[in-house]
Amino acid sequence: MLREVRLALGSNLGDREAHLESARVLIEDSIVQAMECSPVHETEPVGPPQGPYLNQILRGCTELDPAVLLARCQAIECSLGRKRVERWGPRIIDIDILTLGQLQWRDDSLTIPHPGIGERIFVLAPWAELEPEFEVPVLGKTVQQLLEHLHHRIPEESGR
Ligand code: ADP
Ligand code: MG
Repeated sequence: MLREVRLALGSNLGDREAHLESARVLIEDSIVQAMECSPVHETEPVGPPQGPYLNQILRGCTELDPAVLLARCQAIECSLGRKRVERWGPRIIDIDILTLGQLQWRDDSLTIPHPGIGERIFVLAPWAELEPEFEVPVLGKTVQQLLEHLHHRIPEESGR
């Protein structure tokens, strides 16, 4: 089944632009058809002390089922050299699945829509530049509305 998919990229180690570029190429090869990209935003980290992130949102279509989609995203993270060391620690590349069509999914390794969407300015801000009027499944609000709510709630924080 062909469904719309939205992915969030993040990088805060090494040549961050190059990591995003490599991830986009691999994602377009093996996951997303008719891919469109948000602008890249630089955001302050949350969690352990570490450098600032570059974040970007991708959208397009995919035939992949949730488990295969996650496995492909993790294979791309691995192939770009990501090591899982510390929770919320620095990373060469992070690829998170935001939404997959209207699917609501929850198992031990995967939750769709991504549970952090409503809390994360570093996701919502670039996403709002790509498609502010997109209504996020399950949450029932547009990207722009979620961003405005978050600004209202925590004006000083970046929400990672
Ligand atoms: P984070 O992205 O939260 O900073 P990781 O990239 O290390 O941390 O992901 C931790 C785990 O989150 C992954 O092993 C994956 O199984 C799980 N996960 C749950 N839902 C999702 C999702 N929607 N997209 C990506 N990973 C997810
Ligand atoms: Mg991740």
